[in-house]
Amino acid sequence: MNNTKYVFVTGGVTSSLGKGIIAASLAKLLQERGYSVTIQKLDPYINIDPGTLNPYEHGECYVTDDGAETDLDLGHYERYLNIPTSQANNVTTGRIYQSVINKERKGEFLGKTVQVIPHITDEIKNRVQILGNTGDFDIVITEIGGTVGDIESLPYIEAVRQLQWDLGEDNAVVVHLTLVPYLAAAGELKTKPTQHSVKMLMQSGVSPDILVCRSEHEISDDIKRKLALFCNVKKQNVIQSLDAETIYDVPNLMFKEGLDYVVLDKLRLSTRKQPKLTAWNRFLERHKNPTSTIEIGLVGKYVELHDSYKSITEAFIHAGAANKTKVNVRWIHSEELTPESAIKQLEGVDGVLVAPGFGDRGIEGKIAAVQYVRENNIPFLGICLGMQMAVIEFARNVLNLKDANSTEMDPKVAHPVINLMEEQKDVTEKGGTMRLGAWDCQLTQDSKVFQAYKEELISERHRHRYEYNNEYKEQLEAAGMKTAGINPKTGLVEIVEIDSHPWFVGVQYHPEYKSTVLNPHPLFVNFIKAALKHSKK
Ligand code: GLN
Repeated sequence: MNNTKYVFVTGGVTSSLGKGIIAASLAKLLQERGYSVTIQKLDPYINIDPGTLNPYEHGECYVTDDGAETDLDLGHYERYLNIPTSQANNVTTGRIYQSVINKERKGEFLGKTVQVIPHITDEIKNRVQILGNTGDFDIVITEIGGTVGDIESLPYIEAVRQLQWDLGEDNAVVVHLTLVPYLAAAGELKTKPTQHSVKMLMQSGVSPDILVCRSEHEISDDIKRKLALFCNVKKQNVIQSLDAETIYDVPNLMFKEGLDYVVLDKLRLSTRKQPKLTAWNRFLERHKNPTSTIEIGLVGKYVELHDSYKSITEAFIHAGAANKTKVNVRWIHSEELTPESAIKQLEGVDGVLVAPGFGDRGIEGKIAAVQYVRENNIPFLGICLGMQMAVIEFARNVLNLKDANSTEMDPKVAHPVINLMEEQKDVTEKGGTMRLGAWDCQLTQDSKVFQAYKEELISERHRHRYEYNNEYKEQLEAAGMKTAGINPKTGLVEIVEIDSHPWFVGVQYHPEYKSTVLNPHPLFVNFIKAALKHSKK
C-alpha cells in the first residue's frame, strides 16, 4: 500500500463542459505545488480504443510514446503537465470487458458467474489503481468520461463509490463538473440542473465533495450558498468556472477560485507551497501580446470539426507564443481544393500545413496544395499523409511520373512511391495494428530539421501503415527532394525536404503530439518562424 491519493472528476447536466481542461488545470496547480500528478481518462464506450473511430465522431486520436491510441484529452494532459502519458492513462469499457472476458476464458473465475458487479467494477478499480501503484505519483486524477445518468457510465460511478470506501475518507475526493445556465428571459442563473445531476450521483451512492460550476455569468454568493445547501457540499467547495479567453487561462482561474486548495484540504495534504506558474505565465504573456500575426492554411478532410486537428492547432499556439506571433488558421477542405482553385483558396497564406489522414477522400486536393506551395515558395509542413502527398506531388510533377501514388489509394499503381510497410503486409485486423508510438530518427546535419531540433537523434510518435518507397529514393534525391531523416534501424525515410525552397518539410511522424506549453515543438516553432519571414516579404 502506498500513499497515493485519488481525485475523481465526474460530469453532469451536459457533455462538452470541459472536464479534460478542468482536470488538467487542477493537475497543473497541484504539480506547481510540488506534487507529482498524473491524469487518467475512463471512456464508457465499447471500442477498445478510439483508434478505429472516425475523427468526426470523437475528434483527434492522440498517440502516446508507448503507442496507445487515445482520447484527445490525453493531449491536454501532456500539454499542461509536460510529462508523457501511457497506455494506462486511457481505459475504455471495451478494454475492461476484453480483459474480464479473457480472464473468464482462462478459467480465472472458474465456477463463478461473471457479472458487472463485482467483476467489471473490480477491473475498473484495478485500472484506476495501476497508476497509483507504480509509486510514481502522489495524486492520480481520474476523469470519468460521459455524463452522470448515462446508462454506460453506471459501472464507473459504482467503482468510484467502492473506491472511496476502500481508500478511506482522506484519500479520495470527488469533483463534479456541472453547468449553471443563464436564462435570459428570467435574467437569472439556474441551479436546478446541478441539483438534479448531484441527486442522480447521490442515488448511485456518490456524493461530490466539490462542485465546479461552468457558467457564462458570475455566480453570486447567494447562488453558491444555495448550491451548497441543496447539493450537500461546503460553500467554499462551490467553485465557479467562467468562460475563459483561452484554455490556458484556466489554471490561473481555478487557483483564484481555490480549487487546488479545497482538493488538498479534503485529501489532508499540505497547502503550504503556493503554485507559482512562472514559466506558464511567461507563455501566456507572449501568447496574449503578439507583435505580429500570420495566417496558416490547414488542409485536411475533417476541417468541419476542428477537434480533429486539436494537437496541431495547440502546437500552433505554443509555437506562435515562442515567436510572439498570433497564428490564425485558414481551414481549407481538401475535397474542395483543385489545382485551379488553389490560387484563390491559398492566396495570402504565410504557410501551409497538409494534415494527416486515411483513405483517398480529398487527397488530390492535398496534392494540389503541395504543388502550389512548392511552386510559390510558401513554407510547408506535411505531417504523415501530408508528407506522403508531398512525395507523390514531387514524383508526379518534378520526376514526371504522372501516375505516381500511394498503394493505399491505388493498390495496383504503376509508380508506388508510397508503399505498404513490409511488416503490415500480413496484418488483417484494424485495431491497434499500425506502426504506433515513439521511434528514433537520425537527422541529416545539413537540413531544416536539424536547424530546428539541434540534435542528431530524435524520437517522435507515429501512426501509419504506409511508407516512403526506398526504390524511388535515388530519383527523388537527384531531382532535389532530399532525405533529411531516416530510422537508423530500418532505413525508413522519415523526413523529406526541398533545398531550393525556403522551408519545405514533410515528416512521416506526428510532431504535434509532443508540443507542450513549456516545450513548444521545435519543428512548429521553426515552421512559424519561416511563415513569419514569408509574411514580411
Ligand atoms: N494513411 C497513411 C498511412 O497509413 C497516413 C496516416 C496518417 O496520416 N496518420 O500511412
